Amino acid sequence: MEVLRGSVRTYTWGSRTHLAELLGEEVPSPHPQAELWLGAHRDEPSRLNGHGTDGGTGGTDGVRTLTDVLAADPLGTLGPARRERWSGRLPYLLKVLAAEEPLSLQAHPSAEQAAAGYAREEAAGVPRTAAERNYPDPLPKPEILCALTEFHALAGFRPADGTVRLLRALDVRALDHHTELLAAQPDADGLRALFTTWITLPQRAVDELVPALLEGCVAHVRERGDFTAEARTLLDLGERYPGDAGVLAALLLNRVSLAPGQCLYQPAGSPHSYLSGCGVELMANSDNVLRCGLTPKHVDVPELLRVLDFAPGEPPLLQGDGTGAVTRYAPSEYFSLARCAFDDADDDAPPDPVALGVEGPRIAIAVAGSVRLRSARGQEHVVARGTAAWVPACDGPVTVEPVERPALAFVAADGLCP
Ligand SMILES: [Zn+2]
Repeated sequence: MEVLRGSVRTYTWGSRTHLAELLGEEVPSPHPQAELWLGAHRDEPSRLNGHGTDGGTGGTDGVRTLTDVLAADPLGTLGPARRERWSGRLPYLLKVLAAEEPLSLQAHPSAEQAAAGYAREEAAGVPRTAAERNYPDPLPKPEILCALTEFHALAGFRPADGTVRLLRALDVRALDHHTELLAAQPDADGLRALFTTWITLPQRAVDELVPALLEGCVAHVRERGDFTAEARTLLDLGERYPGDAGVLAALLLNRVSLAPGQCLYQPAGSPHSYLSGCGVELMANSDNVLRCGLTPKHVDVPELLRVLDFAPGEPPLLQGDGTGAVTRYAPSEYFSLARCAFDDADDDAPPDPVALGVEGPRIAIAVAGSVRLRSARGQEHVVARGTAAWVPACDGPVTVEPVERPALAFVAADGLCP
């Protein structure tokens, strides 16, 4: 076990407070800080035993990237079965995400779609960094987000009857025809037809429909209708992306508010946009994103329509396993997330260490207080707020216990059985 140093990504939608506070840096930060990355992603591998705190990737004596460490000892870091299964690589990427503004509306491919898409684009010679590249990686990108603050998102297609009610409540004449089409076919096919209509509209039509929709939203908010939260979100998106068909597509998605501790899962094909808030995010180590809108970036409509899952349903909230301090979320073979929460103690008795129940390569981060990790081999390591630790497979099973309470820490592992 040793200290792992991540890197901060400064995207424009980031927060100037959340990550700076977590990392004990100057608040507000000089730039918006969007994501803290912990993992072995090729664009920004985390570092071990580094001395710097900036986003650099090395050069200082003694600094090794996690990628180097995995390559030097795949057996010790991943273990024999996992070295084979993950081809010597770390299958997940852990992030702390801090969104001040909405991220683009997007969906991610399945394992089969990712493998085929990657092979196709490699064969066609599309550069990996090209704007039109959909599949820079051969892997799918399921992801889980566990809220640290109140967190707002759009996620998954809302049951169609709910969307019909929303559209009728907003009472936008220019959308009447679309509303009635969905009312006549209130299922996945109806949603596919309506989404396809909107995402392929000529710009001229989008430029008329979006302002009309926003007028309906203003009136609905004024009269405090049943869909005020939805209408406010549409107004916010419409102001930021006035000519973007993604504003119309956003009408079809569940609007979700997570309380701290609640987790949202995005399986393959689930459309989503994170709107605002801070959370711990864990995903397969892949950059395969199909954008649906709310972005100035490339939108590949035909490929998006192949990847999207139009089956409607309630928001994809995830229930974890575990009753005590440790709750484990294991929705995918690529990752599992253990949330370790230790409230203020009622007495001074030393707490019992809790088995994490995960093996293989692990990354821990504390976001409040501090916790001690103990390995079966007798190693100990304290992870304090804003710091992270790397736990290789060769350390064996690990327990966690609070040092400074209240403590909140997360441990990422893959989703395979120990
Ligand atoms: Zn995503």
